[in-house]
Amino acid sequence: MENVVIIGTGPAGYTAAIYAARADLKPLILTGSQPGGQLTTTTDVENFPGFPEGVMGPDLMFKMQEQAMKFGARIDFKTVETINRNEDGTFDIICGAETIQSKTVIVASGASARYLGLPGELELTKGGAGLTACATCDGAFYRDVPVCVIGGGDSACEEATFLTKFASKVYLIHRRDELRASKVMAKRALEHEKVEMIWNSTIGEYLLNDEGKIKGVKLVNTVDGSESELPVNAVFMAIGHTPNTGFLNGLVELDESGYAIQLPGQTATKTPGIYAAGDVADTQYRQAITAAGQGCAAALEAERYIADQED
Ligand code: NAP
Repeated sequence: MENVVIIGTGPAGYTAAIYAARADLKPLILTGSQPGGQLTTTTDVENFPGFPEGVMGPDLMFKMQEQAMKFGARIDFKTVETINRNEDGTFDIICGAETIQSKTVIVASGASARYLGLPGELELTKGGAGLTACATCDGAFYRDVPVCVIGGGDSACEEATFLTKFASKVYLIHRRDELRASKVMAKRALEHEKVEMIWNSTIGEYLLNDEGKIKGVKLVNTVDGSESELPVNAVFMAIGHTPNTGFLNGLVELDESGYAIQLPGQTATKTPGIYAAGDVADTQYRQAITAAGQGCAAALEAERYIADQED
């Protein structure tokens, strides 16, 4: 029987692990399919306190992992299929053929990139066909060719700016006539000579060459419905994320967008013994530092819960 199983290895999961391990709870961390979480797909993190020169996302996650393991946290590269609550209040965490039992669970499973929902998207994300949600991972494959980014938030601006290192031209396609991104990120993208903004537009169709790779997109004007073609070799999605809560299977109350609902002022959910921390429950801030803060709170709450149960 584990004391604490932490699902997810972003800033929330690792911070929960550091605190739970230092409380001698010997937490078990389950990584899921993207060890290190979303920060492993970004470059410079300039707003995490303590790093005045900035820190690379993957390096920050590696340091957090190292710190958690130093205090006795264990890591297992498993993906959780579902969780069941037993009559005695403990949990069965199902990972394929294996069932892990635990007194508490900290859900820090984050969120996944959203796609437009156009036909054939899944196929186009494979084998370098040109559709991706990670400029850091795939940007370097598109040197000296035109690419586009879709979205109007900080991610879209950050990705567009990053892609100028490689691409000959970066089109930033946004469905409205105003960016959602912060002023500093927007300015950086819009002022770059390689970035061209395409306002009031979305993608209606991916245009493919004979090898099934993207050779352009059909743009649809969101105001008058007019259509045009834009030649690009890759499309980078930056239209937000969906919380990874599907595996909770009704065990935790979710809001209409699928985010885990926490009790006011806590990370505890309505289900005793289950805590939610980070992007999986955060519709507002979605920052590494706020996720880390929630991970800390979740570990402290789980520790108190276990002590109360033992009393
Ligand atoms: P976001 O702020 O939710 O922005 C998503 C963008 O995609 C919005 O502009 C939205 O358009 C657009 N969009 C959504 N669905 C769409 C659809 N179906 N078709 C076309 N466009 C669609 O997401 P984000 O940019 O990933 O940022 C998430 C959070 O992370 C934010 O809090 C952000 O500040 C933070 N972040 C910070 C940094 C940094 O500081 N280094 C970097 C990246 C992200 P509308 O504007 O019309 O809704």
